[in-house]
Amino acid sequence: MQPQIDTTSPMLPHPFRVLDTREEIPGCTTLRVEPADGTGECGFAPGQFYMVYVFGHGEVPISVSGDPAKTGELSFTIMAVGSVTRALCALKPGDTIGLRGPFGNPWPVDKLKGRDVIVMAGGLGVAPLRPSIYHMLRNRDDYGDLSILYGTRQPQSIVFPEELAEWRDDTRIEVDVTVDNAGHDWLGKVGVVTELLKPRTIDQANTSVLICGPEVMMRFSAYALLDLGVAAENIYLSMERNMKCAVKMCGRCQYGPFFICHDGPVFSFDRVERLFKVREV
Ligand SMILES: Cc1cc2nc3c(=O)[nH]c(=O)nc-3n(C[C@H](O)[C@H](O)[C@H](O)COP(=O)(O)OP(=O)(O)OC[C@H]3O[C@@H](n4cnc5c(N)ncnc54)[C@H](O)[C@@H]3O)c2cc1C
Repeated sequence: MQPQIDTTSPMLPHPFRVLDTREEIPGCTTLRVEPADGTGECGFAPGQFYMVYVFGHGEVPISVSGDPAKTGELSFTIMAVGSVTRALCALKPGDTIGLRGPFGNPWPVDKLKGRDVIVMAGGLGVAPLRPSIYHMLRNRDDYGDLSILYGTRQPQSIVFPEELAEWRDDTRIEVDVTVDNAGHDWLGKVGVVTELLKPRTIDQANTSVLICGPEVMMRFSAYALLDLGVAAENIYLSMERNMKCAVKMCGRCQYGPFFICHDGPVFSFDRVERLFKVREV
C-alpha cells in the first residue's frame, strides 16, 4: 500500500522554482519564485511570511516583499546572515525551494482606511513593509496622507533605492530618507529615522504607523510616536524571533504570552509595550 501524504498539512513544503534573483545590496538578494507545478497557492496578505526551505540546508521564516496583486509569484528579500540565508542568496534561476505558508498576522491595511499612514522602515525592514505600500498605493483613495520614513546605516545600504526614488517622485506619497553615516558625496539627510518625525505635523487622532526594522529602531520609533501623541494601539510593529514550526507547536518563537508565528509577527504596540521593558524576552 502506498503511504498517504497529507498535501494540506501546514508542515509540508511545496516546491517553488526560482524565476530570477537580484542582488539589492551586497549580501542581500531578492528571489522571485513561482509554483514548480504551475498550480500552487501564492496568496498572502501584506506583512505575512513563508517558511522557506533550502533543501540540504534548512528552513527559515522570510516575509514576502513583493506585490500582493501579483498572484502567480512571490518575492522574498533576504539578508545572508547564516547558513540557510546564505544558501538562499546563492540560489540561481531554475533552482527549486520548498515553501510553507503564508503564516502570521498581516499589517491591518483594511483597518487603516480613511486614516493617515506613516510607514517607518529601518534597513531591510522595508522589505516586509513593501507589500503594504503597494497595496495602499493601488487603493490610494482609501487612505489619507501616506508617507514613508526610511532610515539605514549608510547610503550604500539603502534597499530598493530606485523604487524609493520612484515613490519620491509620486505625488500620492511622501518619502523621506536618512542615513546614520555618510561621506561628502551624500546630499541627503544624516541622522536616525526618528529625526524624520520631528518636523512633521501629525494628526494624532487620525494617524496610524507601521514600523519594521531592528528592534532598537522600533522601540525608539514607537516611543517617539507616543511622545507626539499617537496612541499605542495605532502603532504597529513586526516582531522577529527565530522559529521552527510556524504553527504554534514548537514554542521556539515564544514572546511573553505570545507566539510570534501565530499572534504576530505584526502586533499593535499596546499589546507588546510591557514586553519591550523586559530584558531578553
Ligand atoms: C516572521 C519573520 C520574518 C522574517 N523576514 C525576513 C526577511 O524578509 N528577510 C530576511 O533576510 N530575514 C528575515 N527574517 C530573519 C530570518 O528568518 C533569519 O535571518 C534566518 O532565520 C537566519 O537563519 P540562518 O540559518 O541563515 O542563520 P542562523 O545561523 O540561524 O543565524 C545567524 C545569526 O542571525 C541571528 N538570527 C537568526 N534568526 C533570527 C531572527 N529571527 N531574529 C534575529 N536574529 C536572528 C542568529 O542569532 C545568528 O546570530 C525573518 C524572521 C522572522 C521571524
